[in-house]
Amino acid sequence: MIKIKGLNKYFGSLHVLKDVDFAVDKSNVVVLIGASGSGKSTLLRCINFLELNDSGRVEIMGKSVDPKKDDLNKIRQDVGMVFQHFNLFPHKTVLENVIEAPIFVKKMPRQEAVETASYLLEKVGLSDKADVYPCQLSGGQKQRVAIARALAMNPKIMLFDEPTSALDPELVGEVLQVMKELAREGMTMVVVTHEMGFAKEVADAVFFMDEGKIVEEGKPCEIFTNPQHVRTQEFLGQVL
Ligand code: ADP
Ligand code: MG
Repeated sequence: MIKIKGLNKYFGSLHVLKDVDFAVDKSNVVVLIGASGSGKSTLLRCINFLELNDSGRVEIMGKSVDPKKDDLNKIRQDVGMVFQHFNLFPHKTVLENVIEAPIFVKKMPRQEAVETASYLLEKVGLSDKADVYPCQLSGGQKQRVAIARALAMNPKIMLFDEPTSALDPELVGEVLQVMKELAREGMTMVVVTHEMGFAKEVADAVFFMDEGKIVEEGKPCEIFTNPQHVRTQEFLGQVL
């Protein structure tokens, strides 16, 4: 579903991603871990072309993407993203947040968009919140709306950038639960998170990033119990 080869990304003279190779198979869940500033968000943003790589190749669903020629908005429809800070539209209700992109980007008939949104809100446990505004929701509820909103475009891949990092501890579980359910249904997912319990339970593979490089990858049981690289050992020593 995702294949990245030799990816490099610079911000000015700052070399942020260094020869990154990264691949995710269909229905797999990959967890990306690493210290703050190691390049995790930038890598995610390169996967849906919010950032453009300076060299290397990005293939999405078997197709090599050329940002100069290809319609990036079309590709982004297949690659949903959920952010740490929810990014809901504050002046729209929950329902309006979820139907916005299907109607205005996909040109879906309003009735169909509302039906899809109702189904998705039920799926994330928020049927009763359709008509309230984001400010009336808890952080966990906002994030579940953000997930429903991303799913409304019927993406084939979902990217999560620290989806629970802004939440009070007691609200983390409800968001992880929704993500686990998605994983169980076979969604292809890349998740940046510090929730090692989630990684152990759900991930097919864990990638550890350090200073713009992927220095180690493996199954969660391998990475967590027997990390090979000294940087992985140090990082896990701090977070586990
Ligand atoms: P992480 O998500 O692992 O914390 P990021 O991908 O956000 O790391 O950042 C990697 C590096 O790139 C950091 O040094 C950060 O300061 C820098 N960076 C990220 N975004 C930008 C940007 N838009 N402009 C300049 N530097 C950036
Ligand atoms: Mg980040």
